Amino acid sequence: MSDSLPLPHGDWPVLEPGWVWLCGAGPGDPGLLTLHAINALRRADVVVYDALVQEAILDWAPQAEHIYAGKRGGKPSAKQRDISLRLVDLASEGKRVLRLKGGDPFVFGRGGEEAQTLIQHGVPVRIIPGISAGIGGLAYAGIPVTHRDVNQSVTFVTGHDQSGETPSSLDWQAIAKGSQVLVIYMGMKHVERIAGELLKAGRPGSEPCAVVCSATTGDQKVLETTLATMPADIAASGLEPPAILCVGRSVLMRQVLDWQALAAGKSPRNLDPLGRGRPAESA
Ligand code: SAH
Repeated sequence: MSDSLPLPHGDWPVLEPGWVWLCGAGPGDPGLLTLHAINALRRADVVVYDALVQEAILDWAPQAEHIYAGKRGGKPSAKQRDISLRLVDLASEGKRVLRLKGGDPFVFGRGGEEAQTLIQHGVPVRIIPGISAGIGGLAYAGIPVTHRDVNQSVTFVTGHDQSGETPSSLDWQAIAKGSQVLVIYMGMKHVERIAGELLKAGRPGSEPCAVVCSATTGDQKVLETTLATMPADIAASGLEPPAILCVGRSVLMRQVLDWQALAAGKSPRNLDPLGRGRPAESA
């Protein structure tokens, strides 16, 4: 691919001096960036990026200053307030600022706070959505986040709050009953507590679960387990965050949809994992 590959013809917005584009970088694979993100990477004077943004993506902005503003695992290495005000300062200096965040900036990414601060300080912003790990990461594992035979709704949950603790404000009873599929971000640290709450609320111990680590990257690892065994299986596996936990029968679809395994020459484990007994194309 050439660096000078033109974007398709269109009336593309331009990252202008003094602006901040708050942009999702997707879950990892650079191919999951949007064209708006590429456009901004090429134009930016400065890219302020998070821990979960793959370094390879920054190679597309060789002309820009790269500023790391990562926070990992509840240990704030850069305070949110400082990051937001840094963005205000950079824009006020007349820089073209690309604020690049993992996944989608408005999904458990504090993008709302950053955008609000910028707007409160009179800085013009554009929001560029990205592919969230809880959707795109599962897709790379061969798990459809909705599947007609399984779920009519899906709940996205965060496994801990700003303090790094399980959000006590969460009503796990309601979450457990609310939808057939739960997609949990930042759940590794408190997986025992989370699984325990869901079991207590009546979700079956045999319910299929998946843990998708470093999804869409070269290090992607997937653990298939059940709700009852998930915490012990994670501990035994040595898997590390970042990971998405998926609770629900859609995980079974991986037995047929693990397209990465198929591409590597493996056969589907089960062509009809939900036991529909009829072809998928039939209503
Ligand atoms: N805004 C991001 C989420 C940020 S919260 C998004 O939309 O995806 C950080 C959490 O996202 C991680 O703890 C993990 O649960 C999840 N996550 C982000 N990237 C991931 C990846 N490549 N693989 C698995 N989980 C990921």
